[in-house]
Amino acid sequence: GPIVGSGVVAAVLALAACATPGAEPADDGSQLVGVAMPTTTSQRWIADGENVTAQLEALGHDVDLQFADDDVPTQIAQIEAMIDAGAEALVVGSIDGTALKDVLARAAAQDIPVIAYDRLIRDSGDIAYYATFDNERVGIQQGTSLLQGLGVLDAAGAPTGAQGPFAVELFAGSPDDNNATVFYEGAMGVLQPWIDSGVLVVTSGETDFATIATPAWNGDTAASRLGPLLDTHYASTRLDGILAPADIISVPLLDVLRDHGYGTAEQPWPVVTGQDADVAAVKAVVAGEQFSTVYKDTRQLAEVAVQMVDALLSGQEPETNDVTSYDNGVMVVPSYLLQPQLVTKDNYVGVLIDSGYYTQEDLA
Ligand code: BGC
Repeated sequence: GPIVGSGVVAAVLALAACATPGAEPADDGSQLVGVAMPTTTSQRWIADGENVTAQLEALGHDVDLQFADDDVPTQIAQIEAMIDAGAEALVVGSIDGTALKDVLARAAAQDIPVIAYDRLIRDSGDIAYYATFDNERVGIQQGTSLLQGLGVLDAAGAPTGAQGPFAVELFAGSPDDNNATVFYEGAMGVLQPWIDSGVLVVTSGETDFATIATPAWNGDTAASRLGPLLDTHYASTRLDGILAPADIISVPLLDVLRDHGYGTAEQPWPVVTGQDADVAAVKAVVAGEQFSTVYKDTRQLAEVAVQMVDALLSGQEPETNDVTSYDNGVMVVPSYLLQPQLVTKDNYVGVLIDSGYYTQEDLA
């Protein structure tokens, strides 16, 4: 056939689909992509929004970027507005993974492909692809790191023979976010045998997901659970470790711990895990307050999602590396999974600074 740029092909295809209102490209041929992100409460989502936008714009697309303040109706309204504005593809970091079925059916009716970004969108058959990290691996890294911090496992992950018992408490993320369950299951797969053998003791007895979940990943909510746990169960014994699912939760927990006298020579910090390598948490890791975090390079995630959009808009098939893991209840969503990386005081310079993710000044 004739040799034309992929943008031209896409524009022709878009014009061919012009019976659908709003589907035509802007006059300059650029295509509008709607980017719906869940919140600005955690640093990573702001970076995600900015990275996706910058990379789409660099490829010549127009972008409508919206953040939804963790409010489901707001996110639905934002996606509806993107459809009405003629978006030709959607990138969606969902809040409630089960709440977008209807609005995505509207997108599907207009042949607008949807990329689920970081969080699986559930109960909908109208998802084209899923760009995310290996979320189970995140949980495994968190559980392993808790055991390493306690000295139950060595740096290579081998048992040291330490018998404890070590007192730990568990926190999980938001029940409406599919990732939260996957993180929890990954971590519990590692921790459960040590709980069963008595090396780890969850003094409160609170181990099931529903009990330890944190709606909306709200750090204040998690903090208001930890305070009473400490008062009730740790008035005269020490808490040795906390499984915290993300830095937006671990950092407020550190404040509660500090208020309860932890972080001194007599009363050292418990081993606290995290996720996202938020600046505040990395600073806490460097200061020896938080034991670890899980770094997920959001620049890479943006790149994967943008490649998916760009391929779809030019009639090509996006690259995937996992077509079995993520069943959303209606379909198994073809996915591209990136690798997370555990960060501690020992490797943060190599992982976070040498990679250019942060500068020394960012962490000062
Ligand atoms: C993301 C995490 C993040 C959490 C809270 C999850 O879906 O994968 O990176 O910490 O949401 O925002």
